[in-house]
Amino acid sequence: RIAPPLLEIRNAQIIYDNAVEAVRDVSLSVPEGSVVALLGSNGAGKSTLLKAVTGTLHLEEGVLTKGSVHFAGEDIGHARTERIVGNGMVLVPEGRRLFANLTVDENLTMGAHLKSTAEMKRLKQMVMELFPRLAERRSQISGYLSGGEQQMVAVGRALMAEPRLLALDEPSLGLAPLIIDSIYQTIGRMRREMNMTIFLVEQNASRAMEIADYVYIMENGRIVLDGPAEKMRTNLDVQEYYLGFS
Ligand code: ATP
Repeated sequence: RIAPPLLEIRNAQIIYDNAVEAVRDVSLSVPEGSVVALLGSNGAGKSTLLKAVTGTLHLEEGVLTKGSVHFAGEDIGHARTERIVGNGMVLVPEGRRLFANLTVDENLTMGAHLKSTAEMKRLKQMVMELFPRLAERRSQISGYLSGGEQQMVAVGRALMAEPRLLALDEPSLGLAPLIIDSIYQTIGRMRREMNMTIFLVEQNASRAMEIADYVYIMENGRIVLDGPAEKMRTNLDVQEYYLGFS
């Protein structure tokens, strides 16, 4: 028997209170141990779907009006963030949202509440090993770090919670190409060395496709194309419309 996917969205419709139908009949699944990328341009509905998955839709008067969202076998379509995080899904939000006045080390501590001192130490070592840059910046105030370093802290903080699924919202946004390379190399290590399950939301289609196992493309609230990443990379429509070759 094939194990059910860790995250599964079925026929979701999401409406905001101004009656905007932001997501229409979307189905998507993230199997355990895989990297799944959700791509699409501004306004396609990616963030809305991510809010549905992480329990924050209600903060913006959005509602899952049809369909379902399951995580680790549990129906979370109307659940709140605390419960979802408790089940093991952690979001690295767009714009990173660090505690800007706290040091790198303190931000990491915030990601791991309820852990013992020994556990905390082990997890911090794991993060420093993944992001050697942060070891050098450990006692610096996060607000003064570069954009790339802040993104590393945001990912590191999420890892402190030992997630079963890490959701990344546009990790390359606003970063220079070399920094994006380094962030993506680390995402690659997380999947290889930690067998981490990753749900990656990106506008940067070419980067995401290099690392993903499976890719969904969203437009106007719908999935317009999906498939294994290696097939998508050679698909002419994908190349023309999303990768900028033609
Ligand atoms: P971006 O990359 O810019 O974040 P996106 O693909 O994530 O784009 P969404 O932010 O999910 O797209 O937006 C999808 C649609 O829902 C858009 O038409 C947007 O105007 C609408 N929308 C998003 N947030 C809200 C909100 N809080 N209230 C009402 N409508 C919203």
